[in-house]
Amino acid sequence: MEKAVKHPRPPALLTRRGFAGLAASLGALASPVAAQQLTAPEAAHREGTAPETPPFQGGLSFTRKVVPLKVRPFALGKVRLLPGPFLEAQEWNRAYVRRLPPDRLLHNFRVNAGLPSSASPLGGWEEPKCELRGHFAGHYLSACALLYASTGDKEIKAAGDYTVAEMAKCQAKLGAGGYLSAFPVEFFDRLDARQRVWAPFYTIHKIMAGMLDMVQHCGNKQALETLQQMAQWADRWTSGKTEEHLQSILNTEYGGMNEVLYNLAAATGDVKWAQAGDRFTKKRFFNPLAMRRDELRGLHANTHIPQVTGAARRYELSGDMRFHDVADFFWYEIVTARSYATGGTSNGEGWLTQPRHLAEELGRSEATAECCCAYNMLKLTRHLYSWTADPRYFDYYERTLLNHRLGTIHPETGATMYYLSHTPGAWKTFSTEDQSFWCCTGTGVEEYSKLTDSIYFHDDDGVFVNLFIPSELDWAEKGLRLRQETKFPEQPGTALVVSADRPIPLTLRLRMPEWLDGRGSVTLNGKPLEASAAPGSYLTITRTWAAGDRIEVALPMGLRIAAMPDDPRLQAVLYGPVVLAGDLGSQGLTKEMTIGSEGPDVEHLPLEIPSFKAAGADPKNWIQPAGEPLAFRTTGQSRDVALAPLNRLFDKRYALYWRVS
Ligand SMILES: [Zn+2]
Repeated sequence: MEKAVKHPRPPALLTRRGFAGLAASLGALASPVAAQQLTAPEAAHREGTAPETPPFQGGLSFTRKVVPLKVRPFALGKVRLLPGPFLEAQEWNRAYVRRLPPDRLLHNFRVNAGLPSSASPLGGWEEPKCELRGHFAGHYLSACALLYASTGDKEIKAAGDYTVAEMAKCQAKLGAGGYLSAFPVEFFDRLDARQRVWAPFYTIHKIMAGMLDMVQHCGNKQALETLQQMAQWADRWTSGKTEEHLQSILNTEYGGMNEVLYNLAAATGDVKWAQAGDRFTKKRFFNPLAMRRDELRGLHANTHIPQVTGAARRYELSGDMRFHDVADFFWYEIVTARSYATGGTSNGEGWLTQPRHLAEELGRSEATAECCCAYNMLKLTRHLYSWTADPRYFDYYERTLLNHRLGTIHPETGATMYYLSHTPGAWKTFSTEDQSFWCCTGTGVEEYSKLTDSIYFHDDDGVFVNLFIPSELDWAEKGLRLRQETKFPEQPGTALVVSADRPIPLTLRLRMPEWLDGRGSVTLNGKPLEASAAPGSYLTITRTWAAGDRIEVALPMGLRIAAMPDDPRLQAVLYGPVVLAGDLGSQGLTKEMTIGSEGPDVEHLPLEIPSFKAAGADPKNWIQPAGEPLAFRTTGQSRDVALAPLNRLFDKRYALYWRVS
């Protein structure tokens, strides 16, 4: 979320790069880690086709032409998590969402509409004077809808239905042509006059997206009516403005207004909403991307990622390649040139340097890797993956999910983080129960409500197994149930057990990750299969499956080094996809420092960070297993350090990047 104080904007870069050069120059994981992982999945056939003139000029015209997707996700209700760290994260979050009182979330809406409210106001970004107030109620609706779909929790659905009904009353009482918000419509007058105001459309987007989730996952018809009225208001507000004025308005953060309007167009079949969505096309941002130029330096990261998801959706609904190219190049550039080893991106919420200057970026502040960015990049990744079914998208997805999402929800309380600091000596800081409500608290309650959404995808012929997470898939249309049993990543592999009412001919595709240390292998009912597949591809098994069939997959893992592209001696250590953090103890940490702060203040709590001497290129020469699964220890250093997965470390100071000679 863009703060009131903005970053000074460095001069925009005018570099122009071809894909071949990009692939060769390596990105965040520049190292032996895997060059093939850094090849843009779309690169080969798109190389050299960047347009010479800005493709987004003048008004856009929307024509519906749905692009067929190669693969589709399963509905959330088809997949259930089984015991393991992901189920734990879901349940910590579910308990938090259940503890949130809807009447307190509704307080500012009721006050704004002139309706009585006796609830005590919330704090943080939901306090009654905050200009973003009401944003979290939108995230809350999404979380209720997604949790109901993921778990079948009827009480959560009832809380969501109640909140929709009460917000609809506020909308009716406001009587402002569909306007629904917890702040007065005058905020939009300030936006229109280009006066100082935080981000009114950002907040409206969260509420609209929450309503749409309540429609799509809970079948709530009142939410659809409320949403269409909101869309009508947004359509009218934007329709009379000149192109130049609208483009100026789009310099104020507006979340994914384009995306939610495209989604509404798809849900209702009414192109009017897509035409309204087109007005949220920020051309100054899209044009360089469509021309495959990284001019991201100086931009606020999470302001822009949701706009690209909107572009992806626009392409899916219209086939317009300009939007395809925006999404394709943006994703590639963020993942290969602007992401740390954890999959996290941003520093001080922005992209502050030239691409591939990540060490320089890391040195700029402690406020690295905003959690919203990870949430939104994962969302974007799902779109791009569905166009090509290229498993390499899931190398990024898995890395970000394991390192940036799994470990940023607090055990038991379900509190979530704002920045995942990558500064050596940092620690994790979490939101409070009811006095934070940051942007990342909002995307946090959504993230852990939909952890089932990407484990499996399908086409007409079969299932794609993308993530190694204990879970059960029920593909009722095919009469197939698939149970995945694994302790991954503690255990280097997974097992899938078929149950089916009758024999089913089906293709099963198992993702072979880029990080494999050797080739993955597979057994069927205890017998080795001839099949093998290279890292970064699918291992495909087509046969008639019968109840009780059991596939066991070995996924050999090894230690890997991820060096900074602009400073090869600044290195992170991974085991398979898991980033290992050095445990630097709890020195100086208090509860006040870990709860309620947006990020750690490392500068005022200095800590000596050891540096290492690598005995050769192979990290095994100086990093040894330390007994427990995924626990390691450096050896032969002047000060040795215990290494453990970042996602397991809480209330500790840690380092992710080390000076290695
Ligand atoms: Zn955020």
